[in-house]
Order: sequence, then structure tokens, then C-alpha cells
Amino acid sequence: MLQGKTALVTGSTSGIGKAIVTRLAEAGANVVINGFGDADEIEAFRAGLVTDHGIKAHYANTDLTKSDLIDDMIAEASSEVGPIDILVNNAGVQHVSPIEEFPEEKWDLIIALNLSAAFHTIRFVMPHMKKAGWGRIINTASAHALVASPYKAAYVAAKHGIAGLTKVVALEGATHGLRCNAICPGYVHTPLVDGQIADTAKSRGISEEEVKRDVLLAAQPTKEFVTSEQIAEFAHFLCSPAADQINGALLPVDGGWVAQ
Ligand code: NAD
Repeated sequence: MLQGKTALVTGSTSGIGKAIVTRLAEAGANVVINGFGDADEIEAFRAGLVTDHGIKAHYANTDLTKSDLIDDMIAEASSEVGPIDILVNNAGVQHVSPIEEFPEEKWDLIIALNLSAAFHTIRFVMPHMKKAGWGRIINTASAHALVASPYKAAYVAAKHGIAGLTKVVALEGATHGLRCNAICPGYVHTPLVDGQIADTAKSRGISEEEVKRDVLLAAQPTKEFVTSEQIAEFAHFLCSPAADQINGALLPVDGGWVAQ
């Protein structure tokens, strides 16, 4: 379905982003992988996508908190594998701490990566998408784009910001063939959540098992983690013609969390 298109998925060396970039490659898109990790593992992942799906795949190790590098990343990726038709803003980090103790550098990092980086990638890919008359922008937001939890000031602020950005981009791109939506996952068991389990256990003085049962899945009525593959399948659907009239939507995939 996505043959001839190119997709950039930020933060796609791990977790949700890795599942999304794999699903889009499987659908025939050329892909740009971004994020950090072991260089040999990333190269094996990149080369595997090329051989398994017969597509082009490029890896950019760009640190997206450095906004001056984002333009170059997109220019290089576009010349290697083609101009970006599908952008998935997915890279994100978390920090859990009471607001009075919230480290200023963590606030700056989370706002830079989880919010401002998406503004920069969007502004650099929009000219091509408008010219082509087709583009799909998907922001991996969170249930925390819709509701709050204590101890996550920067994350909740950034994700609510992404919700607003999603709506503005949807309106500006609507008559140019662009669609911009945010997927709002509940808890997905990925390395990011592993870190959060440990941090929450520490900040609340309870065990990691208690965090999973009483804190994380307490909010999720199905009492089950979402899977990265479910998010990836949904992202793929948002690139399909069936989703052409879904625009500016904040779409929960959270087992009923925000229904409460
Ligand atoms: P993860 O930790 O598994 O992956 C994060 C990715 O971002 C990695 O590829 C990492 O290398 C990359 N990254 C980190 N810092 C970066 C930087 N400065 N520049 C470029 N890349 C960077 O996390 P995940 O759980 O897969 O989360 C992915 C997205 O989904 C995040 O935006 C997160 O907020 C969101 N989300 C996750 C959950 C969850 O429960 N896991 C729930 C809702 C939303």
C-alpha cells in the first residue's frame, strides 16, 4: 500500500517507534530510522528491513533535542531514500518526580524532545507534502495528552502541547492533502515504561510489582498493557485511504483509561 512513499519515524530504534517503522516498511514504504542504541544492532535492524521488504532504509543518529540538526537530518534522509511523505513524531522520554523537586534540566529536555522536536520536523517536511498534495503526520502522544497524572509535570505539559500542535497542523494542511493526527496510547510495555516503573517505585516507596498493579494498570480498565504492534497497526491504518477523513484527532488506544 505504501510503495513509493518514504516514512521518517523518530525514536525508532526501540519500543513503539521500532514497531511502527517495521510495519510501514512491511507495507512497502522506504524508511528513515532515528534514535540511539547499539550501532551494530541498529545496522542489523536497518539491513534486515531492506532484505525482508525490498525497500530503502536510512539511519539518522540525530539528537532531536538539538533543533539546529533537524533540518540537516531531513535533507540527508530525503536525498538518501526520498522526500518524507509520512512523518511519525515518536521520540520521547519521561521523568517522574514531584513538581517541587522536578529538575530544571529534565523539564527542558522533555519539552525539547517530546514537543519542540515535532514542531521542527513538521515545519521541514510540510513544504514537500504540500507540493506533493499528500502527506501523513502522526504524533505519538499519550493518554497524558488528554488527562494528567501526578509527578509527570513536563511529560503531561509536552503531550498536551503535542495535542494542540496536532490540531493546528491538521487545519493548516487540510486542503493540501495533509492529515495530522495523534495516537494517544495508554501504558505500553517498552523500555520507557521499565524506567518509569523503577522511578515510580522509588518516588512512592513501593515495590515494582505494586507500581505495575496499583499505579500503571490501575488507570487502565482492561488491566492489560497495550502492545507496540497494536500502535503500529493503527499508525499504518492512519496512512490508508480509509483514514482520509480522520484529521486533527486525538485517538486513544488505552484500554478505556480516558473513558473514566
Ligand atoms: P522507548 O524508550 O522504547 O523509545 C524511545 C525512542 O526515542 C528510542 O528510539 C530512543 O533512542 C529515542 N530517543 C531518545 N532520546 C532521543 C533524542 N534526544 N533524539 C532522538 N531520539 C531519541 O520509548 P517508547 O515507550 O517506545 O515511547 C515512544 C513514544 O511513545 C514516546 O513519545 C512516549 O512518550 C510515547 N508513549 C509511550 C507509552 C508507553 O507506555 N510506553 C505510552 C504513551 C505514549
